[in-house]
Amino acid sequence: MTHYDFGLFVIGAGSGGVRTANMASGLGVKVAIAEERYLGGTCVNVGCVPKKLFVYASQFQDQFDAAAGFGWTVDKSTFNWTSLIKNKNQEIVRLQKVYKNRLQKSGVRIITGRAQVLDAHTVAVDGKEYSAERILIATGGWPFVPDIPGKQHIVTSNDMFFLEQLPKRLIIVGGGYIAVEFAGILHGLGVNTTICHRGHKLLSGFDEDIRDFLAHEMTKKGINILFNTDIEAIENADDSFAARLIDGSKVNTDLVMYATGRIPNTTGFGLEMLGVELDSERAIKVNSDYQTNVPSIYALGDVTNRVNLTPVAIAEGMALVNKLYVNQLGPVDYDNIPTAVFSQPTIGAVGLTEAQAREKYPDIDIYKTSFTPMKNNLSGIDEKTLMKMIVIRSTDRVVGMHMAGPDAPEIIQGMAVAIRAGATKTVFDSTIGIHPTAAEEFVTLRDAVN
Ligand code: NDP
Repeated sequence: MTHYDFGLFVIGAGSGGVRTANMASGLGVKVAIAEERYLGGTCVNVGCVPKKLFVYASQFQDQFDAAAGFGWTVDKSTFNWTSLIKNKNQEIVRLQKVYKNRLQKSGVRIITGRAQVLDAHTVAVDGKEYSAERILIATGGWPFVPDIPGKQHIVTSNDMFFLEQLPKRLIIVGGGYIAVEFAGILHGLGVNTTICHRGHKLLSGFDEDIRDFLAHEMTKKGINILFNTDIEAIENADDSFAARLIDGSKVNTDLVMYATGRIPNTTGFGLEMLGVELDSERAIKVNSDYQTNVPSIYALGDVTNRVNLTPVAIAEGMALVNKLYVNQLGPVDYDNIPTAVFSQPTIGAVGLTEAQAREKYPDIDIYKTSFTPMKNNLSGIDEKTLMKMIVIRSTDRVVGMHMAGPDAPEIIQGMAVAIRAGATKTVFDSTIGIHPTAAEEFVTLRDAVN
């Protein structure tokens, strides 16, 4: 029998890689994990975690303003960006330590440095070679920025977490998750924010009503959204920039951020030489067991560019370990994955959009409600909530739920369980609401609006 240094060698210590390593090691497999940058990957360092901390930071001014409606007098507030960055960095360092401790406690060998896959069973890190029965690629993705004149002036979400100072004016290019989340953050922190999006609506893939609602609410707050346009070139003008748009007009700004998608990290570490198959977007192709065309090499998470969400990478890691070491079949169910956007208002969604449901089923009922959240009746904040439920009339099955408004991600997480369990509209209707909440609206939707 061939002897290997490790049973499993994981490349990339992001959410998917770390969970796979910990779980496999816990089952007695000899595991190593190589990481060149930071433990915890994108989510912990330049993604979900610091993003959400920034979202919290950006909401205080609204809350100070709202306090007057509840009888409070709040003295003049000031905001210190440097202090936020420092505190955020401390929290990230704390989380990195948590990751490190957990890996060490599970018995995973952490190897710091850039890994190079030499052959189907050999990885080198900083010149030292390790053999492994299996190699897992979990190297995630990296922001994509299109080639335009002036590209060198562009920052991405990676840079936004470490800016030395806040700009007065900012243009964000893109209309996806990162663009709308950062627009809300920067606007909330007092930056004059413009979204420049090539499409005619934000958040492609989401329900049309939610897309329209979000753009409307963001515009009401004072975020400038330019649709159906793009930046042709960025020109440097002293210490600011002029963005030249495709119609020839110019927008002056202090900073240009691109949030135009992410590309899988698949270059420069040996995959090409080994003949690991990539798709047209350079994502690693895997079968339903996360196995590449080289049988001892596996891949999961953003590097496979399927559903690029942290909890999905984690679920894939657990499914892989179960498959390899517990001999349990349990592939990830990619249907009904709930998702949230931490825009302002926040969005939560699970299941089919109205358009998808209409295409799939002939008999769809739509339930919808829009209202002013209770707090806003006194707060003076002009932000509404939208809730929507999609039901197949013949079977009574709820197949889609969408919400924009305060706490939408928290509420939709619970609703996702009901949808997975196959809940019918009758089950929702017979569920007693919790009063007074926004969530209770989902169990009191009476008339289809179709
Ligand atoms: P998205 O794919 O969500 O959005 C990219 C946006 O950029 C789209 O609006 C797209 O337009 C536009 N775009 C793409 N290419 C170009 C181009 N060449 N020129 C101009 N515009 C362009 O990517 P993000 O970068 O926002 O986020 C990456 C991924 O990270 C998300 O898809 C998501 O999976 C994950 N993520 C999840 C979060 C969460 O769970 N809350 C938060 C942040 C990220 P069009 O629609 O026309 O293609």
